[in-house]
Amino acid sequence: MTVRFVPDAVWIERAEWDTPLARTVRARWAGALESFDDGGAARVASVRDGKRLLVVQRHRGTFLRHCPAGTAGLVCCNYLVVNLASNCPMDCSYCFLQDYLTDAPALTAYTNVDDALAEIDAVLRAHPERSFRIGTGELSDSLALDPLTDLSRQLVPFFAARPNALLELKTKTDYVDHLLDLDPAGRVVVSWSLNAASVITRDEPGTATLDERLAAARRVQHAGYRVGFHFDPLVEFDGWEQEYAAAVDAVAAAVDRAAVAWISLGSLRLSPALAEAVRRRTALGHVAGAELVPGIDGKARVWRGLRLRMYRVLAARLRAALGDVPLYLCMEPPAVWERVMGEVPTDRVLGMRLAAGAAW
Ligand code: SF4
Repeated sequence: MTVRFVPDAVWIERAEWDTPLARTVRARWAGALESFDDGGAARVASVRDGKRLLVVQRHRGTFLRHCPAGTAGLVCCNYLVVNLASNCPMDCSYCFLQDYLTDAPALTAYTNVDDALAEIDAVLRAHPERSFRIGTGELSDSLALDPLTDLSRQLVPFFAARPNALLELKTKTDYVDHLLDLDPAGRVVVSWSLNAASVITRDEPGTATLDERLAAARRVQHAGYRVGFHFDPLVEFDGWEQEYAAAVDAVAAAVDRAAVAWISLGSLRLSPALAEAVRRRTALGHVAGAELVPGIDGKARVWRGLRLRMYRVLAARLRAALGDVPLYLCMEPPAVWERVMGEVPTDRVLGMRLAAGAAW
C-alpha cells in the first residue's frame, strides 16, 4: 500500500493563489478549498489539529539553517536543513514537532520555493571548496506532501546540477513513484527512518510499514538514487535485539550495499515537554514505557550503558550484513563515539566524510 496524505481541507493564502506550488496543489486537490489572508493559519489550534489540513502560504524569513541537533558537547555531522514545509501528516509518538511547533502548528507547504533555491545557490557558490549535505526532512517528512505539491521533482534536478551539495530526502512513506524518471546525477540520497517492526506498529501511526519502506528504497536505488537509513530512535523493549536484527537483515536483503550512502544510529531522546506530550497520548507504545535519564543537552535519554549496548549490537549487525558502509551516531558525546566507533571525528571531518562517501 502506498501511503497518501488526504487532508480534510486545503487553505491557500490569497496572495499566493497563483504561485506554481499553489497551482499544483489546486490541480491535484478536489476537496474542500479555502483562501485566507495573512495570519489566517493562526486559526489552527494544535499540532494534532494541524495535521488534518494543509495550509499553503509564503514563508517569511530564511529557509536554510544548521541542523539544530548540533549542540555543544555532542559530535555533529555538519548537516544543513532547508525548511520548505512545516509539521507532518503522520503522528509518531516521539516526534519532537509535538513540542517544537506548538506556537505554529499548521501543516504548511511554502510557496516561495524559488527564494529557498536562490538562498541555497548563493551558499553553494560562495563556498565551492566545501561539500554540503542538505536535507528537507527536519520540520516535516520530505516526501509526505509530494502527492499534492510535487515539490521533490523540482528539488532533484536543482541538486543534480550542483557539484558541491547532496540533497537528502528523508521519509517514513513509500511515496517514490514521482522520483523514478528523474536523473539524480549522484547528488540525491533518499533515506528512510527505520525502526523495529513493533515500534513502527505501536509508535508510528500513519507511516509505511518496514517492508513498504524497504520496497520503496529498492525502487529508488534501481532508478539511480543512493539510499540512506536512520535507525532512530532506538527503543528498548522485550525482544529489541531480535527485532532490530531482523530490520538490519531486511535492509541488507532489500538494497545493494554499494548504493548505501550512510546509516545513522540514534537513541530515544525526549525534551521534558515532549516526554509530557508522550505520556498524555492515549495509545501508549514502547516509547512511553522507556526508562530515561537526563542528558547534557537537557533531553532525557536511555542511560549510557544501555545506549552503548544497543549501538554495539546494531553496529556489529550492520557491519556483518552491509560491510563498510558509512555509519555514524546522532547526537552523542565523544565518549560514546570512542567506545562504539573507536574514534572521535571532528564535526568538519565527519561532515566531509559523509558527503564524500556518498559521492557517486
Ligand atoms: S514521520 Fe517524522 S516528522 Fe512525521 S510525525 Fe513521524 S517523526 Fe514526526
